[in-house]
Amino acid sequence: MRVTGSLSEFQELRQALNGRVGAVYTMGALHVGHLSLLSHAREENDAVVATLFVNPKQFARNEDLSRYPRTLESDLQKFERAGVDLVLTPSPEMMYPPGFQTRVDVKIVSQGLEGERRPDHFTGVVTVVAKLFNLTHPDRAYFGQKDAQQVVVIRQMARDLNFPVEIIVCPTVRETDGLAMSSRNVFLTPEQRQAAAVLYGALQAAGGAYDQGEHVPAHLIEAVQDVIAAEPLAEIDYIALNDPRTLSPIHQMTNLPVLLSLSVRFGATRLLDNCLLPLSLNNLIDLTRLLGV
Ligand code: AMP
Repeated sequence: MRVTGSLSEFQELRQALNGRVGAVYTMGALHVGHLSLLSHAREENDAVVATLFVNPKQFARNEDLSRYPRTLESDLQKFERAGVDLVLTPSPEMMYPPGFQTRVDVKIVSQGLEGERRPDHFTGVVTVVAKLFNLTHPDRAYFGQKDAQQVVVIRQMARDLNFPVEIIVCPTVRETDGLAMSSRNVFLTPEQRQAAAVLYGALQAAGGAYDQGEHVPAHLIEAVQDVIAAEPLAEIDYIALNDPRTLSPIHQMTNLPVLLSLSVRFGATRLLDNCLLPLSLNNLIDLTRLLGV
């Protein structure tokens, strides 16, 4: 495995890779969720490139950029064990040198859900991913279902700007109690960590209700609310039902799949989770078909 912080050296090494290339973009603090993206990339491609960059442009001033966990040495070991061929670890100054002035904005799909709570977040994400697509030239790029809106926004950008890349969406990897793995889970106190399993319970409750024929959007949202309300440490930020392809809010259910997303605070930490309904669609093929490609 080659590791470099230099963009020009990375581009040279990238050019020397043969065959189909899969890419995984991370902010480090790697966990099993990231490893599952890497393992799909390894299985489906001739070579795998990964990036580790905590992108300052996607954090607002009041967010946790300086607190973001940084574990470079162990991340590199994990990349190596996952069979990565080439890693880029650029500095913020290299990615955004003095005089940098471009931003890439995706309009409609960036606007609801997380976009409403984090103005400029998706501009930061999309700008860096456009740069990373140009640097890594992947045939396939692997993203996690956990950040479902992010992947829809990136897919839109890739289409609009003609990046010849397939966007693959890998199912959310969870702890044994169902909590979605996230680098931010380390900010939870032990009590909050235990309480946070309620998110998965709530998604499962809605999935169960859906499977039993409950297709009234307000009732499905109530099913989620009821489960979360029973957990005193949890404070609901939003629960939403959207069309997975357009992210338009669902007012009336059809037979088409829907994306159920939630954001819940535990003290100062806001956690996200989501699932497709029906629950049987939360696999790589259906997630990629509905949120990616
Ligand atoms: P991050 O390092 O948090 O920017 O995440 C890098 C990639 O890993 C993104 O595509 C995330 O959606 C994905 N990811 C993060 N957590 C998980 C998880 N629990 N399961 C699957 N993918 C994940």
